[in-house]
Amino acid sequence: MIIKNVRILGGEPVDLRIADGRIAEIGTGLGAGPGGGETVEGGGAIALPGLVDLHTHLREPGREDAETVQTGTRSAARGGYTAVHAMANTSPVADTAGVVEQVWRLGREFGHCDVQPVGAVTVGLEGRQLAELGAMADSAARVRVFSDDGKCVSDAVLMRRALEYVKAFDGVVAQHAQEPRLTEGAQMNEGVVSGRLGLTGWPAVAEEAVIARDCLLAAHVGSRLHVCHVSTAGSVEIIRWAKSKGWNITAEVTPHHLLLTDDLVEESPVGAYNPIYKVNPPLRTHADVQALRAALADGTIDVVATDHAPHPVEDKETEWPAAAMGMIGLETALSVVQEAMVETGLLDWAGVAERMSLTPARIGRLSGHGRPLEPGAPANITLYDPSARTEVDPSAYASKSRNTPYEGMTLPGRVVATFLRGTPTVLEGKLV
Ligand SMILES: [Zn+2]
Repeated sequence: MIIKNVRILGGEPVDLRIADGRIAEIGTGLGAGPGGGETVEGGGAIALPGLVDLHTHLREPGREDAETVQTGTRSAARGGYTAVHAMANTSPVADTAGVVEQVWRLGREFGHCDVQPVGAVTVGLEGRQLAELGAMADSAARVRVFSDDGKCVSDAVLMRRALEYVKAFDGVVAQHAQEPRLTEGAQMNEGVVSGRLGLTGWPAVAEEAVIARDCLLAAHVGSRLHVCHVSTAGSVEIIRWAKSKGWNITAEVTPHHLLLTDDLVEESPVGAYNPIYKVNPPLRTHADVQALRAALADGTIDVVATDHAPHPVEDKETEWPAAAMGMIGLETALSVVQEAMVETGLLDWAGVAERMSLTPARIGRLSGHGRPLEPGAPANITLYDPSARTEVDPSAYASKSRNTPYEGMTLPGRVVATFLRGTPTVLEGKLV
């Protein structure tokens, strides 16, 4: 197959020849050759290495009313992803070799991208007893990322043991940093808006205190720590300090924390108190957003991860205090990053590729993904048209859920095509 007229990382137009699932040749004026073969017209689109998400909730097993491996990976493919890490807070929890292998097998059977299961750190996400980390690492799913995401591993001794344990197989603990006592009943960011609205606040310190502790623990035991969905300016300062020590710490930010603020809870196009903006960690202030953008630009924050969190309508369209926390994000991630980071001059397309493909693949130890687009690399490719403008219409999404905070907004860019090992999963913006 020949992919004609694409611009790798926004460079000069070239053609790609794909053979046996790999990039065989990059040049100009490439033809299909005597054997014929398919030609895909790239139309000058930007070619990026297939995106890799470190933080996706696919909800299967247990909440197939919200999402399944099939619908979630369709959503991922439409967003330009070729691999996602499936979070462990399913039902049953992915805390044994049996459950992670079940998710891995579902991915092989129904996935429109690769599905890499994340294993729970503690049994049942209950924070009392370490899960079978070694058995999950040795399983067919070859788990390397462990997280109780949705909940924080708040017990310092358990966190220390988990960090020590994963060293044996080059694993990483991905922490959802939320001090539980400081966030009991929390509904939104603690600040002037929560004060005016009378909603219980989720203070920045509840995130920052856990991140500081975990950085110190990771350094103490010489292990790898990954910080999930960093949301505050103070967290950025702590991670910057920890990295300056040479400690092995990585961090992610979500697209929504790069674009949206807590003011939306009070005043938005969809009215006040609209639970579409309810998410954990919560939307923060304008100053936090600016700090997160700067941190992603300078590498203090390593990657963008979606925290794609599908919920059925009945769990979201309800009173604010009763509504579920979370937003979907796979199909808008690249557009939001373009809006927040590229259009502002903070990142070029090479920087986007680093933060949405190369580095997340490296953190997750996915050897077949996140490779620069060059001859010999697996043909995991995303074609993206940054000049498109699209009004967000969740009814058109492949996700089973509709809880996007961008409904009605016009976002830049459009995923034109996605290729998984040379096989198109999306062409002309549509699922294949
Ligand atoms: Zn989380």
